[in-house]
Amino acid sequence: MLRHVLRVDQFTRTDVERLIVSAAHMRTIAERGGDDRLRGRILATMFFEPSTRTRMSFESAMIRLGGRVITMENASETSSAVKGETIEDTVRIVETYADAIVIRHPVAGIPERGAQVAAVPIINAGDGAHEHPTQALLDVFTIQQELGRIDDITVALVGDLRYGRAPRSLAMILTLARNCRLILVAPPGVEMSPDVLDALASHGVEYRAEIDLVAAAREADVVYMTRVQKERFPDERSYLAVRGQYQFGEQHLEVMRPQSIVLHPLPRVDEIDPAVDSDPRAAYFRQARNGVFMRMALLDALLNSSSTLA
Ligand code: ASP
Repeated sequence: MLRHVLRVDQFTRTDVERLIVSAAHMRTIAERGGDDRLRGRILATMFFEPSTRTRMSFESAMIRLGGRVITMENASETSSAVKGETIEDTVRIVETYADAIVIRHPVAGIPERGAQVAAVPIINAGDGAHEHPTQALLDVFTIQQELGRIDDITVALVGDLRYGRAPRSLAMILTLARNCRLILVAPPGVEMSPDVLDALASHGVEYRAEIDLVAAAREADVVYMTRVQKERFPDERSYLAVRGQYQFGEQHLEVMRPQSIVLHPLPRVDEIDPAVDSDPRAAYFRQARNGVFMRMALLDALLNSSSTLA
């Protein structure tokens, strides 16, 4: 079933359900100290943009399944891209060293370009302001774990919905949920892009824009906070115009239902008051940990021929 992981719309509802079941199973395996199913396999991680969680959780996932990792962080400074090498040539080389390649790049579409020439699986670990499919998968896994369902939910997506690839991919994956409603809370100028709104409409996902975070918090099962993507703004002035507008604090917890949750793909800057962290509804650190289990499930599906998902 899985050849590459490039964008959310490659997945069916059944794929997502199976990956969620597999990720839950991977949690048990990880808690038992991992296993050896990917022994002898090598994962290459190439990051042309900063990352803490995505790179390290992929590496941790590979090692927990008995595989090994070769890595290039700061690839935009240290890889041959600096000398003018194309992504196609880089992939043709790296695939002779590794059995799968994880790529993060500031330019949308680069992992897909790599996949067109690749003989090994390519995993998109974030391409510019476009997509972050493995984040979306770990987000729905977290929603399933925390709420016990991914259907019949109201999700508030808050912050930079224009440049944020995490909320874009989450909105796209939620088109596979039944009876899902989205509340879009974004400062003027960084609202969700029309391509995502069209996809929501064509899948019958109900959505509305909201300016009041308190109102959204009162209604939502999931409040998904995001960072304003400073690095994607054309200039400092347009970034300053939207930063700091939505900050989740104790006043929002007060109106939230006891069984609702707060998520954030992290890193946070000032979007969530650290005083919120100790509330049981603050699920963002559990969400980050779930990234290892979902990435174990993905590596198993991509690299283990006896996987039920292969
Ligand atoms: N870590 C996420 C990403 O790479 C979210 C963020 O950077 O704000 O898209």
